[in-house]
Amino acid sequence: MLFAIYGNPVSHSKSPHLHNFTFLKLGFLDYCYTRIKLENGNELVDNFKKLKLLGANVTVPFKEDAFRQCDEIVGLAKEIKAVNTIVYKNNKTIGYNTDSIGFLKSIEDFDDVKKVLIIGAGGTAKAIAIALKHNNIQTTILNRSKEKLAYFKEAGIKSDDWNDFKAEDYDLVVNTTSAGLSDDSLPAPIEIINNIFSHTKYAYDVIYNKPTPFLTKANELGLTCKNGKDMLIFQAAFAFMLFSDYPEFNRISNLMKYAMEL
Ligand code: NDP
Repeated sequence: MLFAIYGNPVSHSKSPHLHNFTFLKLGFLDYCYTRIKLENGNELVDNFKKLKLLGANVTVPFKEDAFRQCDEIVGLAKEIKAVNTIVYKNNKTIGYNTDSIGFLKSIEDFDDVKKVLIIGAGGTAKAIAIALKHNNIQTTILNRSKEKLAYFKEAGIKSDDWNDFKAEDYDLVVNTTSAGLSDDSLPAPIEIINNIFSHTKYAYDVIYNKPTPFLTKANELGLTCKNGKDMLIFQAAFAFMLFSDYPEFNRISNLMKYAMEL
């Protein structure tokens, strides 16, 4: 039984390690998970079918392609319009979005989150904003440019660019931009970030593989901080349940947490 992650680039992905370790530990001995670097997103589902995969994850920049090409879309992926997990069942490719529920699970550590500010307006911001909306959590989007705000306005989610933004009181601020991933930039001008942090209890960055300037600053100012590691593990654990029908989420995510540290 073959599974894969599609992306470009994809060599850095931890998903093969997380899934293969957990397949082995839970006795799925004929299951194997690999990486596929795709050049053309239009070929994603054809490639999936040609290789007779049983399931796949999809990462940047192909989640919208996967959404368009799956035979059927289930759950929040319909509204997010992006798919990060594909399962082959009854001769059909079925698309899901587990980033959204992975994020929600990861903020259970925070008490009483009722109002959230999301910085960034890309695919990850959509998955998080739609998940929060379905949990009746009041959400605002802040992005450096206006172009990507139309989706959120249409979904009934408050959204501003840097020029229009006025900070309110938030429980949680989430950086979903890639600022700080390969440079030392903040996701918005320092005055805006300082203003946001003085109105917020918790800071979260979806980046997980390095301490970003955003979280470093939040930490210095005494906010409770969290990086994207749990989100990564939880979205993978939900995908694993879809791939294998193994029902114990906590067992899967604990194994993946352990694998992450190896
Ligand atoms: P997209 O390219 O879809 O969106 C990026 C957004 O960030 C855009 O709104 C863009 O603004 C903004 N942006 C990018 N660079 C900057 C910058 N330097 N300053 C300010 N704004 C910026 O990316 P994704 O949403 O798909 O992914 C974003 C991040 O989330 C990636 O780092 C990815 O690795 C991470 N991720 C983590 C996951 C996890 O499980 N932990 C899961 C999924 C993603 P504009 O519209 O103006 O271009």
